[in-house]
Amino acid sequence: MPKVLLTGGSGFIAAHVLEILLQKGYEVVTTVRSEAKASQITAKHPGAKLSVVVVPDLAAPGAFDEVAKTPGLDYVQHTASPFHFRWTDARTELLDPAINGTNSVLKAIATYAPGVKRVVVTSSFAAIISEAELSNPSKTFSEADWNPSTYEDGLRGPPPTSYRVSKKYAEKAAWDFVAEQKPGFDVATICPPLVFGPLAHHLDSLADINTSNSRFVDLIQGKWKSEIPPGGVFLWVDVRDVALAHVNAMERPEAGGQRFFTTAGYYSNREIARAVREAFPDLADKLPTEDVPGGDYPPEGTYKYDNSRATKVLGIDWIPIASSAVDTVKSLRQIPA
Ligand code: NAP
Repeated sequence: MPKVLLTGGSGFIAAHVLEILLQKGYEVVTTVRSEAKASQITAKHPGAKLSVVVVPDLAAPGAFDEVAKTPGLDYVQHTASPFHFRWTDARTELLDPAINGTNSVLKAIATYAPGVKRVVVTSSFAAIISEAELSNPSKTFSEADWNPSTYEDGLRGPPPTSYRVSKKYAEKAAWDFVAEQKPGFDVATICPPLVFGPLAHHLDSLADINTSNSRFVDLIQGKWKSEIPPGGVFLWVDVRDVALAHVNAMERPEAGGQRFFTTAGYYSNREIARAVREAFPDLADKLPTEDVPGGDYPPEGTYKYDNSRATKVLGIDWIPIASSAVDTVKSLRQIPA
């Protein structure tokens, strides 16, 4: 069975990609930042055709050279990239790992892994989005759009802008690498908006929740009880669909050379609160009632999206928001506060 290199195997999305790959019988080599994370992943998959390699610093020159020398690699899934707002220096802690990390993976594969046919890169709606259009109900976002923010905008912030810039330039780095170096592999990029869903990775406590699921922790810990916060962006996707999109983008020949805007559609925090309230009556003292204000769509309506390419080429039957929200809360309730 083919062998896949998966970067960042300890992550929220990557853990689901790993599960699908192992279920389908792929042999997987995954990278993590520490021995502790390596042990957690190995313990979760006893007997699997899996090896875990420690790559401590994504941004270090040649970071992936050794792992790329693994004999027999056929595909790469590059998911590792910072998605949090805990950094103090945008260049060294966010932009460099995202952009140099992508270049470093691609360069290592082109140099040391001649058998690799395709690299799937986890990009983001952040690479598509235009902040000026976020309140424009007549704008339709699709794979044709590129975030117009500059690298300097990324250095200046605010933090969400810096993160979006990190994703834009990381994805551009992948397309530029293929155009300029003409390696023996092609690339497909997956561009999800906010990703919600149950956890497949190890978490010691809810305090360590990944960024995109943090709203669910706030919800079940009572932080929306008197006011539901605004949703921010209004597009989302379930992590199981994102993981399937990664694997299908790797396997389907027609996916090569394409970006995929993998969104299930709209969500509002109010819809999330309602679905969770209906499914978990025992959480009533923590959850907002229907008359609590906030969390609605903007009165003028929201921007549009076109997810038709991802739906057709990757064959995703998008999980609806209510069941994703319920599955997310079920999963979070297994984890110590
Ligand atoms: P996550 O759980 O925080 O996973 C991020 C992964 O990247 C982890 O494996 C993390 O390692 C690794 N990583 C972060 N910074 C690193 C660094 N400096 N050096 C080495 N490894 C580093 O978040 P996620 O949501 O699964 O994100 C995975 C990918 O999806 C990212 O590329 C992110 O930009 C993209 N994405 C996420 C969403 C979303 O809503 N979740 C939406 C669009 C795109 P540790 O476990 O050691 O921290």
